[in-house]
Amino acid sequence: MARITYLTAIDFGSGSIAELPSAVASNKMVRPLIVSDQGLVATGLVKRIADQLPNATQFLDTPSNPTESAVLAALATYKANDCDGIIALGGGSPIDLAKGVALLATHPEPLEQYAAIYGGIERITADVAPIIAIPTTAGTGAEVGRAALLTLHDGRKLGFISPHLIPRQAICDPDLTLGLPPGLTAATGLDALSHCIETYCSPRFNPVAEAIALDGAGRIWRNLLTAFTDGGDLPARTELMLGALQGGLSFQKGLGAVHALSHALGGLAEPKLHHGTLNALLMPVVVRFNSDAVGEKMHNLKRAMGLDEKEDLAQALNNLNMKLGITKGLHALGVQRSQFDWIIERAMADHSHATNPRAATPDDYRTMLEAVFESQPQETGK
Ligand SMILES: [Zn+2]
Repeated sequence: MARITYLTAIDFGSGSIAELPSAVASNKMVRPLIVSDQGLVATGLVKRIADQLPNATQFLDTPSNPTESAVLAALATYKANDCDGIIALGGGSPIDLAKGVALLATHPEPLEQYAAIYGGIERITADVAPIIAIPTTAGTGAEVGRAALLTLHDGRKLGFISPHLIPRQAICDPDLTLGLPPGLTAATGLDALSHCIETYCSPRFNPVAEAIALDGAGRIWRNLLTAFTDGGDLPARTELMLGALQGGLSFQKGLGAVHALSHALGGLAEPKLHHGTLNALLMPVVVRFNSDAVGEKMHNLKRAMGLDEKEDLAQALNNLNMKLGITKGLHALGVQRSQFDWIIERAMADHSHATNPRAATPDDYRTMLEAVFESQPQETGK
């Protein structure tokens, strides 16, 4: 049996941000909390949103990897202003933070008890406060995803998963991504591509998600280099935003070893690493590791992405990384080999580990980390 859940109302397209006031009204929010970050304050976008919502309060100190303490700080603002819903504006971090606030606004602390690996899925009820998510990157798919990744006080980065954490409404306006710098366009786009590829290869039964993921992989593959080269290309930005949304709609089927490792690496206190960059780096190695375990799916992926049957997907992913300037290995990003044991232990415990199509052992994870330690592996084909 499979539980297949699609819940979010999605307003998609250029100019759809104009729907926000009516979205707030239809979700019965009177005093929403806007959750965002200082980067989006600097772009003027927070003011543009706040000007439409005179009763809104703001929490703008979302860290790049959202933490339990940031959730509690935003929760204090939410409660002090008697808020009744959240507008999450940004990339994955403000949206994940908003999910943590929406959860604790209606559920008793501590946060840890709701982590998926501690049986939290059963403890999260439909009482979760409503969220309207407005993504400003084409990447995480958090606007329609049921998971939030939050780092607890002791440094563990854990997944909080529930259909009740899915935002009630998403406003996906590709205009908001037009100013995204090339490096961020590449890293977030490759995160989205990794969602589509990992979800598609996950062994769980969900053919609906597979069809969405295949379509999303093709859209991202065809448009990422264009949007990287010309950030103002609205058709390419629109396709990327749709591909990221499709990744988010489908990853309820489960991710895999790319995300098990990137969640672990993203939980390091130092260095602070970007989720999308990590996934970009790890994807060729994991695709190579999984290639004999996914049967015809490799052919289907290549067909959906417009690759020749004879091409090697891991090699093609590596070549795309090079074109997008993603060339640094883990060492150059600040990771030390002495951190590998900690990373591997957390990857084995991560919720994405179980849905990799080929069971990965601690030694397999060490081999993957070694393969991307010094630099991008120079693939020579298979
Ligand atoms: Zn991701």
